[in-house]
Amino acid sequence: MTAAVFTVLSREGRARRGVLCTAHGLVQTPAFMPVGTHATVKACHPDEVAATGAEMILSNFYHLSLRPGLDLIAEFGGLHAFMSWPGSILTDSGGYQMVSLSSLLDFDDEGVTFRSPYDGGTVRMTPESVILGQVRIGVDVAMALDHPSAFGASDNQIRDATRRTHRWAARCREVSPGRTLVFGIVQGGFDPELRRASAETVAGMGFDGLAIGGLVLGEPANIRRAAIEACVDAVPDPLPRYLMGMGSDLELLDAITQGVDMFDCVLPTRLARTGTAMTRAGRLVLRRGAYRQDDRPLELGCACPACGRFSRAYLRHLYQAGEILGHRMVSLHNLHHLGQLMAEVRLALESGGLGELVAHRRAEMAAAGAAASGSYGSIPPGP
Ligand SMILES: [Zn+2]
Repeated sequence: MTAAVFTVLSREGRARRGVLCTAHGLVQTPAFMPVGTHATVKACHPDEVAATGAEMILSNFYHLSLRPGLDLIAEFGGLHAFMSWPGSILTDSGGYQMVSLSSLLDFDDEGVTFRSPYDGGTVRMTPESVILGQVRIGVDVAMALDHPSAFGASDNQIRDATRRTHRWAARCREVSPGRTLVFGIVQGGFDPELRRASAETVAGMGFDGLAIGGLVLGEPANIRRAAIEACVDAVPDPLPRYLMGMGSDLELLDAITQGVDMFDCVLPTRLARTGTAMTRAGRLVLRRGAYRQDDRPLELGCACPACGRFSRAYLRHLYQAGEILGHRMVSLHNLHHLGQLMAEVRLALESGGLGELVAHRRAEMAAAGAAASGSYGSIPPGP
């Protein structure tokens, strides 16, 4: 079954150009998934999201199951129909939210009990209920329930959380998922050996794909790189590999050259909230006075709805005036920016030109004075 789910079309080094087959169509990889936590990519119409090149979006099972609730979504024919998104949907299970953000009441190998942040009610979730819930609302890819560790957690905490993640993963595999693909999540903290062992364990359970969780938490790039390498080495070649939570240009290119196929991140829409555009030259912060009379688009040659019509000066004015059109336009621009990056990467991989593309993008960033590492590295706080 796995071979039909994901097909590698071409390679360059460890990087792969592939295609993931889901119940709602094909997803060309490497792929960036815009994040629609609450069943909407913030401020963007689904048609506009599709026009950025996105074939799959990410939503969050934890949030949706608490609000509006699975019954309501199921009544409307599932998540695709409810939010009117015709493409593919992957839902994160919400292990991170349950363990890290919720008011945790009880937490053991059987499952998690927490207080809902929406209505204060007591909620119980288990590995089985999390998969069944995602299947019930008809998502294309469901994520197993995992127990992530925080950056800086002790070795013992990381080992405990990783063992629990494995036990939960095995129980997730016991649930019949119908047409929904199920991805396992690799944990293991920042120790490459523990990462490798976790990837081997989870990959051995027969999931349709493997997600690398518990990274992009502010760890140094070399530590992240070693952890990714350990995971990729241990994952059987035909399985799609998904790195959770990464969305800045050079980091994406880095991970793609390491053999990662899929990504998601709130960065494009979250940066837009503060009037920050993602460009080939790094971040463009519209509030800066330098753009007050700037008649250029955010990025020359960008095909997004903002760059086709509006000047930096006008967009800056929208932010200064607190007008929501600014947020919408910069969100779409940022999503187009990453969609375009992925399209260029896929094209380059078809002709063995990825190395050249990466070198060119690095040079462009460096020439513009953007720090080669972490120019988009920090994500402003927010829901
Ligand atoms: Zn644009």
